[in-house]
Amino acid sequence: MLLNASIPVGRVLGIRVRVHVLLLALMALVVFLQVAGAEGWAAAGIAALTISGLFAIVLLHELGHCLVARRHGIGVVDITLWPLGGMARMSAIPESPGIEARIAVAGPAVNLALFVLALPLALLDGRLVALPPLASELLRWFLAANLVMALFNLLPAFPMEGGRILRAGLARRQGWLEATERAVKLGRWIAFLLLALGLMGVPGRLGPQFSLVLVAIFIWWSGLQELMLVRARHQPHPLQRIFQLIAARREAAREAARHQQAREATLIDAEVIEVRDSGKRT
Ligand SMILES: [Zn+2]
Repeated sequence: MLLNASIPVGRVLGIRVRVHVLLLALMALVVFLQVAGAEGWAAAGIAALTISGLFAIVLLHELGHCLVARRHGIGVVDITLWPLGGMARMSAIPESPGIEARIAVAGPAVNLALFVLALPLALLDGRLVALPPLASELLRWFLAANLVMALFNLLPAFPMEGGRILRAGLARRQGWLEATERAVKLGRWIAFLLLALGLMGVPGRLGPQFSLVLVAIFIWWSGLQELMLVRARHQPHPLQRIFQLIAARREAAREAARHQQAREATLIDAEVIEVRDSGKRT
């Protein structure tokens, strides 16, 4: 399947990192367009470096999620970098608001930390230090990339981080399924707004943004996947319910037998005590 077509490129902190073929194709296309255009190889090199730098930041963001997940005993399978960002595959995250919120916050927290670390240098640039023009341009780009990545992911559009934090908050007061339904519903509204913005842009300010259209479709699709998964877990299929009912009856019968044994055991103990008591009395 095209969605699974990725190449392993190495391991970071024991986690396998994969690059999706679509991302490699996109990089090749960008380099080709630059070389074919008037800008030439120098511009192509800068474009390739910028994309690599962006995905290095995405990788750090994903590692943030993975390390916190691992601390909670969740197995991390791998991280895949693809044109829309990064995807970390993990074993099932328990339905715990605390754990979900901590894993979700970790990604944007990495971006905000990188932003805060680089900010002093950017503020001093041109005052106390004079960075070469290319370096200060790269620094400004690094700050913007981290800030945009953190803020965009904090949009309450499930399954992005903001949506996961929202579900965790809702799940403290209501069931996991209800919380997921409400978070996915809000995510769909945001996906709809992103779709409109992507198709039409902002008149006079911003042209149509194809990447936003893809992000909107991704939010809609993966929100639906998560909702179906949680629904299946909480509202099993009728056949599954029959099996569960049979299993529950068997367990109830076993429990009743165990109670009977326990009662007999108590009676025996009582008899023993009575005998000892009567022995003491005489
Ligand atoms: Zn993330």
